[in-house]
Amino acid sequence: MDDYDPNSMSVAKAKLFIQQFLNPLTETERLPLSDALGRLLASAILSPAQVPNYDNSAMDGYAFNSLDLAPDGLTTLKVMGTAYAGKAFAASVHSGQCVRIMTGGMMPSGTDSVIMQEKVSLAADSISFSAPPQSKMNVRYAGEDLQLGQTVLAAGHLMQAADLGLVASLGIAEVEVYRKLKVAFFSTGDELAGIGQPLKIGQVYDSNRYTLYGMLSRLGVEVIDMGAIADDPVLLENTLLAATQKADVVITSGGVSVGEADHMKQLLSQHGQVVFWKIAMKPGRPLAYGKIAHAHYFGLPGNPVAVMVTFYQFVREALLMLMGQASPQALPTFHVTCTEAIKKQTGRTEFQRGILYTDEQGLWKVKPTGHQGSAILSSMSKANCFIVLDETVGNLDKGASVPVQVLHGLV
Ligand code: AMP
Ligand code: MG
Repeated sequence: MDDYDPNSMSVAKAKLFIQQFLNPLTETERLPLSDALGRLLASAILSPAQVPNYDNSAMDGYAFNSLDLAPDGLTTLKVMGTAYAGKAFAASVHSGQCVRIMTGGMMPSGTDSVIMQEKVSLAADSISFSAPPQSKMNVRYAGEDLQLGQTVLAAGHLMQAADLGLVASLGIAEVEVYRKLKVAFFSTGDELAGIGQPLKIGQVYDSNRYTLYGMLSRLGVEVIDMGAIADDPVLLENTLLAATQKADVVITSGGVSVGEADHMKQLLSQHGQVVFWKIAMKPGRPLAYGKIAHAHYFGLPGNPVAVMVTFYQFVREALLMLMGQASPQALPTFHVTCTEAIKKQTGRTEFQRGILYTDEQGLWKVKPTGHQGSAILSSMSKANCFIVLDETVGNLDKGASVPVQVLHGLV
């Protein structure tokens, strides 16, 4: 890459660098439709039929032929019977005739239009209504949603609730998806204590493994928790090698600060090809990425907020690509007014934690969560977005328009 500088990498450049090495999974499995929720399609879904399958009524009313419409004045038609949804109307409809029809009822032969029941007056066995402005109305035509053979969902598509329904509407019971991506992770640090144990002097509870567990589970990968490992070269090496054997991706937190003499860096250089960056961002400056044998490796910073920020800026999209999505979308971003002034230096991208809310007029606004230190994990709990302030942005006045990345459902 041009102007590659590991000591000052922009967020965008680091993302591009990582993208070059992401080879999607190839193994697939066939699953019953419901089990495919949250999985990525390995082959496209093609429509095996027209949807809808036949011309049918869009409402409760009367089916007739538009040639019978009186151009100006009253149209009067004789009611020949009723067409219910789920049954074909046996007879043909001739000039001057109509059929009472229910929503979804198959259009009887000889008809092409439906007049809404509320618009007709019924007398004995005939209806009359004023000529509507257009013919061929209120009919859902065969194939108007999907044509036979049409690509309904492309390979790589992430299956959501609507997709389950869409595929079901085609009568398809099983789909081919990529197997789950396996992601192993562990924390590093002599100071880490496991939850449920009393803290000794100088210890902190290992929280990163729990945020990672949560973020990874939301992505639908298979998580392999390898524990909290002390800064001991033999333990770290054993854990790292075991992780690369079990998983497609290995994520660690802590111990990758540039300039810090520690075991992780040495092990990573010994067993794989890993680059260590100082990213021009806050929080989350140190970051490592590379490959150890076949496994992709992400070395995240130790600070709890930095772990989450780097995960959402670098790891999430990379995992989606490995899972089989060709070009994953970054988190949704839009501009809103910030209700407070923000102090910021230029030259790095900041991901401040923010609370998006609607004011009394119903307008979306954002308010920073308060103290923005990279160890203040409560700021992530309060936040529902990142306020993204890029390298060119300096101090901001109250009322400035700022881009926010929505974390709804992710934190
Ligand atoms: P490091 O990158 O290893 O120097 O860690 C940076 C900071 O993050 C230190 O204050 C660590 O104690 C803290 N830290 C590292 N790992 C964890 C963890 N798993 N849970 C909570 N804090 C951590
Ligand atoms: Mg450490």
